[in-house]
Amino acid sequence: MTYVITDDCTKDGACLNVCPVDCIHPRLDEGEFATESKLYIDPESCIDCGACVPVCPPVAIFQEDELPEQKAHFKQVDAEWFQKQRAASAPGNAPAQPALPAADSPAPAR
Ligand code: SF4
Repeated sequence: MTYVITDDCTKDGACLNVCPVDCIHPRLDEGEFATESKLYIDPESCIDCGACVPVCPPVAIFQEDELPEQKAHFKQVDAEWFQKQRAASAPGNAPAQPALPAADSPAPAR
């Protein structure tokens, strides 16, 4: 069971301060916060405590089984956001680093 954030989210951020397992992202100090239109709950980490619900001013958070029908797809939206985050940070998917010169390379000319 998980909770889900719908598109009524205004990124107020109150939920970020009450979640005991830090499963709501992006946090204010994460780069995606500025560009995302809403926050997301990680269904793999959410412990179903419900602490985020009463602090959400626009009432954007629902238990997955209680999502309004027209908002039901946000369960998938939240799950896919975290899947993409994990894929992007997986080994081999990190941004390419400039190649280091070999130890026996001649020093660059000055
Ligand atoms: Fe975090 Fe609890 Fe809300 Fe899940 S239900 S997102 S664990 S505060």
